[in-house]
Amino acid sequence: CGIVGYIGSKQVAPILLDGLEKLEYRGYDSAGIAVYDGENIKTVKSVGRLKVLSELTHEGSLLPGTLGIGHTRWATHGAPSDINAHPHENAEQTIAVVHNGIIENYSKLKGNLEKKGYHFISDTDTEVIAHLLDYYYKGNPLEAITKVMHRMEGSYALGIIFKEYPDEFYAVRKDSPLITGHTQEGSIIASDVPAVLKYTRDVYFIENEEIVKLTKDSISFYNVDGEEIQKESKKIEWDV
Ligand code: GLU
Repeated sequence: CGIVGYIGSKQVAPILLDGLEKLEYRGYDSAGIAVYDGENIKTVKSVGRLKVLSELTHEGSLLPGTLGIGHTRWATHGAPSDINAHPHENAEQTIAVVHNGIIENYSKLKGNLEKKGYHFISDTDTEVIAHLLDYYYKGNPLEAITKVMHRMEGSYALGIIFKEYPDEFYAVRKDSPLITGHTQEGSIIASDVPAVLKYTRDVYFIENEEIVKLTKDSISFYNVDGEEIQKESKKIEWDV
């Protein structure tokens, strides 16, 4: 299971495919990517090896864009299938989420959302995050994310895209690894260091319940109350 996300000046899909390949050692049963193409969020996902995803997207060339998130899934809730593969989206496909970990209280959250009229298409715990973000999103991504964090129990590393904010994306983590780094050509998140070493050796280790906002030129960090915090990067001296 792995997560990669990028925003910058380069084509994102090949970066996601390459990064996910570097995380293959973590194991997975399905893979998927979401790319913002300038108008919409386009998602391609499939059960099976990354090679399948690479073929479906013609090595990423069928998904042009410079903002995207990618995922390799190790199924915990819902069988390995195309529909259960990540990214997951809200009904309007304006919010896309990738998730590693387990949302322990997902069935309660799902029941509440269903009562409010939300319709679920997968068997995953992750899909509640997409609909919960939709429920709390009133135009401010950071506010929606902090509200969702207050509702979720369990472990999560998340990458999140909001179609209304195409110049940024978000990452969050609790008890599931996630790092971030910045280069001349953009900002990147990944589950582990090997996926980013090609781009930077200056890495920020995201701590529990920290939120990251990434743009092409900057990375900023917030606590669960939405207050900005300062962090120091670490230089990775070793090779993989
Ligand atoms: N619990 C989520 C699922 O089953 C994420 C699994 C993972 O960490 O890859 O879809």
